[in-house]
Amino acid sequence: MPTFLPPFTIQQPASLDEASQLLLDGGDDARAYAGGTELLLVMKHGGLQYGSLIDIKTIPGLGTIEVSDGALRIGALATHLAVERSPLIRQHIPSLAELEGKVANPRVRASGTLGGNLCFGEPHSDPATLLLCLDATMQIDGPDGARSLPIDEFIVGPYETALAEGELLTSIDIPLRGTAWVSAYTKFQVRERPMLGLALALEIDAAAAAVTDARAAVGSASPIPVRGAEAEALLVGPISEIRGRLAEAGAALAAAADLLDDGDGSAAYKAHLIGVFLRQTFERLTAAGTERATA
Ligand SMILES: Cc1cc2nc3c(=O)[nH]c(=O)nc-3n(C[C@H](O)[C@H](O)[C@H](O)COP(=O)(O)OP(=O)(O)OC[C@H]3O[C@@H](n4cnc5c(N)ncnc54)[C@H](O)[C@@H]3O)c2cc1C
Repeated sequence: MPTFLPPFTIQQPASLDEASQLLLDGGDDARAYAGGTELLLVMKHGGLQYGSLIDIKTIPGLGTIEVSDGALRIGALATHLAVERSPLIRQHIPSLAELEGKVANPRVRASGTLGGNLCFGEPHSDPATLLLCLDATMQIDGPDGARSLPIDEFIVGPYETALAEGELLTSIDIPLRGTAWVSAYTKFQVRERPMLGLALALEIDAAAAAVTDARAAVGSASPIPVRGAEAEALLVGPISEIRGRLAEAGAALAAAADLLDDGDGSAAYKAHLIGVFLRQTFERLTAAGTERATA
């Protein structure tokens, strides 16, 4: 197995149009290059070979984080560190800032981008699971113009996205749902990458001590992250009643995922962890949601 990088060229486009054209011209030999944390690693180990890397960091405006049209828009080139530290993200979606502070290691967080994480389609992605739960939309640009895709249509398989030839991810939009919504992400990791991640978002009516809407997703333990509609239905109602259904909701969420038996652990072990994490995350969120509403 080679442990050195094969020769390649780097081109630095000044615009999205130019980058798309370079990708089209290069065909299968060309690849977009953002932080390079996945790309250079996989090339170094001989997994993939590209003779032409298109360095998209030279395109202006792709790292911006802003609120626009009721959504938080995160430029695809925003690094994990920038997302973790962004005051806007800490204010509007603290669960994402918290998640980003626990991705990989300081070196990868400083150069690896959120867009690169999602475009690589690694099944062990932390952000993909939370972004699925938060209903994120991917903004894409390419030879046929701009288009948007919900994240569940963007991630189509392990290491596989819906990006067409010459297309680039430009930003990730997360709808801002108002202060009744709270969200959290819980992960378990013994090796370099997470083996399980669970994301939960709840709309809480503090006065009624009830959950009025819920979204739950699980990732890193199956080929792609998934939501669990049955689990979500069980998580709506008076909080005291939901507590009695948490085991059932955990089992339903585990059943929705295509849990893998692999080196990280058995599918049964992962299903057990989902039940434990769902209970913990639910208690944490309902306490936070109730406290926030009464503060
Ligand atoms: C040691 C290590 C530990 C890690 N641990 C974790 C972890 O705990 N949790 C986790 O979630 N992730 C983890 N990761 C993954 C990490 O998050 C990604 O490596 C990083 O985010 C990739 O971003 P990048 O900018 O370096 O992408 P690059 O390596 O530059 O690109 C990755 C892929 O995405 C494509 N690409 C990049 N940007 C775009 C774009 N805008 N449009 C179209 N295609 C694009 C590239 O062509 C390439 O195929 C880990 C990685 C490493 C190396």
